[in-house]
Amino acid sequence: MTAQILDGKAIAADVREQVQIQVAQRVADGQRPAGLVVILVGENPASQVYVRNKQMACEKVGFHSELLRLPASTSQEELLTLIDEFNARAEIDGILVQLPLPEQIDEETVTERISPTKDVDGFHPYNIGRLALRMPLLRPCTPKGVMTMLARTGVDLVGRDAVIIGQSNIVGRPMFLELLAARCTPMVCHSRTRDLADKIRRADVVVAAVGVPRFVQGDWIKPGAIVIDVGINRLEDGSLCGDVDYDAARETAGWITPVPGGVGPMTVATLLENTLQAAELHAG
Ligand code: NAP
Repeated sequence: MTAQILDGKAIAADVREQVQIQVAQRVADGQRPAGLVVILVGENPASQVYVRNKQMACEKVGFHSELLRLPASTSQEELLTLIDEFNARAEIDGILVQLPLPEQIDEETVTERISPTKDVDGFHPYNIGRLALRMPLLRPCTPKGVMTMLARTGVDLVGRDAVIIGQSNIVGRPMFLELLAARCTPMVCHSRTRDLADKIRRADVVVAAVGVPRFVQGDWIKPGAIVIDVGINRLEDGSLCGDVDYDAARETAGWITPVPGGVGPMTVATLLENTLQAAELHAG
């Protein structure tokens, strides 16, 4: 069997087009377009690329978009004061503080300062709590994007066994909540998990978010399984690869996401969806 490819670029383009259509409709109805501010503290090169991509994506769909670049020496109090200002501004629906932050700034304090209805990353404990209680509001972008991809397979997820590798707050844990809400039977694995390969061999859905190049081996994959590779790893030659041994896994899987061009584009497209959702929340 050779897996069908879940083309994240194509699915993300569809999501962006839908957002663009709805923004145009809002403007035609006399409403303002949604507004997003991205705050970048410091000079992290990867963050600069992510922030630029997010801003370009916002502009293409017609959002009001602002980028605030702050020096690496910015204090936590200064950043919190700015967040308070954006929380109060009516034309801003979403506030995204690009992580990681310099060491003098506590990420949790910053995340909690963002108004939950402007938390378009979906990282605020309020939004994670709502997802856990099956009343989602703004959902974390990467796991939500994965759910959009899973829907595109047309496979009924109800009752399926799912294994998530990685328990981070931004991917693994909310991914568990998403799959549970979809009535899968998910399991979260991490570096202390025993017999990981055996657990993966029983999974109908595998989500890899480990950060180790080609960690998941082809012979760990159950025939026909859906394999979602969240990992983005840069190799010494400068190329990107995922957490799954793609060439081997695609021989056995039913569906698989490539890296690059899989989950990555979905994360940015889902951020746009969330910002539009926030604008609708603010419009009442
Ligand atoms: P992370 O915070 O880097 O944590 C990695 C997770 O993998 C941890 O839970 C760790 O377990 C687990 N792990 C490490 N070695 C393991 C092993 N040998 N066996 C089993 N589990 C192991 O995770 P993250 O922030 O979610 O990032 C994961 C990957 O996804 C990275 O490559 C990142 O670049 C990528 N990513 C991509 C997107 C996207 O848009 N596509 C978004 C976010 C992240 P412990 O908790 O026990 O240490």
